[in-house]
Amino acid sequence: MQETSASIQITALPAFNDNYLWLIHAGKHALVVDPGDAAVVEQALEAGGYQLDGILLTHHHADHTGGALALQQHWHCPVYAPDNDHAAYRELNAFRVKEGDQITFSALPDLSCEVLSLPGHTLDHLAFYLNQQHLFSGDVMFGAGCGRLFEGTPPQMYASLQRIAALPSETLIYPAHEYTAHNIAFALTVEPENTTLQQRARNTALLREHQQPTLPTTLALEKATNPFLRCQSLAQQPAFYDWQPLDVFTELRARRNVF
Ligand code: ZN
Ligand code: FE
Repeated sequence: MQETSASIQITALPAFNDNYLWLIHAGKHALVVDPGDAAVVEQALEAGGYQLDGILLTHHHADHTGGALALQQHWHCPVYAPDNDHAAYRELNAFRVKEGDQITFSALPDLSCEVLSLPGHTLDHLAFYLNQQHLFSGDVMFGAGCGRLFEGTPPQMYASLQRIAALPSETLIYPAHEYTAHNIAFALTVEPENTTLQQRARNTALLREHQQPTLPTTLALEKATNPFLRCQSLAQQPAFYDWQPLDVFTELRARRNVF
């Protein structure tokens, strides 16, 4: 659980095989990001004595949206979703949000949320940047990795990751899947000599042994260990010497697909 300055707390709710539904709560009020499974969220709300005041959806995949309708019907709370007419949003009574929008919640006055558009995994993919401190990155960025390109192109995904990389390095990042250990195993094939990565591999193994989340992560740690954020420096190394950073990214994403 992360504590923030305004006594906002953020809790990972494990769901399905490896998803995290992120619960943001302050006092008795809560928001949820990407509620793929309504029952998991209801259970956490009941355990904490929270009421649900809002739902944030990063993209249309079912493991991120599947529980949104049942939760909205129960709690009559606003849903904020990407601005397109995908079937996943059609039944919802959703506010459509896009790049640059600011979302506020009357029940959570200490909270401000900026919307970023980060296409690549899907074309509609958003991230939610809370209090200029916490980034809910859905399936764009994972611990030591990035999402698959289901709809977008490598240049789109690369640009989306570069936008994340431009945030302050102390930004906390909350991806929607626990893929860190496998991503680190892949990253070590790219940079076996990276000592920060080696240390992260040890820390991650220890956390997973104890069934603890490896997330949130920090942008500083990702910049030091996530190969998809390191394409510029990899382009200076012998294995990729004289490549363009985007070509390094495209090659790494292709390799990771079959790793
Ligand atoms: Zn997805
Ligand atoms: Fe997903």
